[in-house]
Amino acid sequence: MTWWERTALVVFMVLFMECFAWAMHKYVMHGWGWGWHKSHHEPHDNAVEKNDLYAVVFAIVPIALFTVGMWYEPLWWIALGITIYGAIYAFVHDMLVHQRGGFRWVPRHGYFKRLLQAHRLHHAVEGREGTVSHGFLFARSPAVLKEQLRRHAAKRAAGPAVAADRDVMAGTTSRRPVDAEHATS
Ligand SMILES: [Zn+2]
Ligand SMILES: [Zn+2]
Repeated sequence: MTWWERTALVVFMVLFMECFAWAMHKYVMHGWGWGWHKSHHEPHDNAVEKNDLYAVVFAIVPIALFTVGMWYEPLWWIALGITIYGAIYAFVHDMLVHQRGGFRWVPRHGYFKRLLQAHRLHHAVEGREGTVSHGFLFARSPAVLKEQLRRHAAKRAAGPAVAADRDVMAGTTSRRPVDAEHATS
């Protein structure tokens, strides 16, 4: 392989992983996989969350690809792209937004502030449904996300009784008010 091919493969995989992570988060973690992800949306003082099991499961893929990649080179570079995405994700999501590992940096402007605000708005809704901003490295502006939250809330308030009953059964009706100031501080 040429260096150009290797670089292209790594960059492609980082971008692909953002799409994959978005879809996983939106449709699996907030869908049938909520059982593990729920722990990430609840306040707690534990060092680890059941949600961390996702990271463990997803790590199996690049480990396997690195291994097979010793015989078939493209897979090794694909594994590297996935690993780089994992590292960026851990920095943005776990350290920057959730301040795990004692990391304390609150960006005041620019791209990282936008990521921070967007993921805080993801956590503005308690429960599985009605959340916004499921991506991590590409984030929409806080104004757009707040508008989406408002629409979701309005839809719920005006929703059919059947949906409301279902929400009560699932215990997802309690919600924190969307605190715009908190999210943009
Ligand atoms: Zn979530
Ligand atoms: Zn989070």
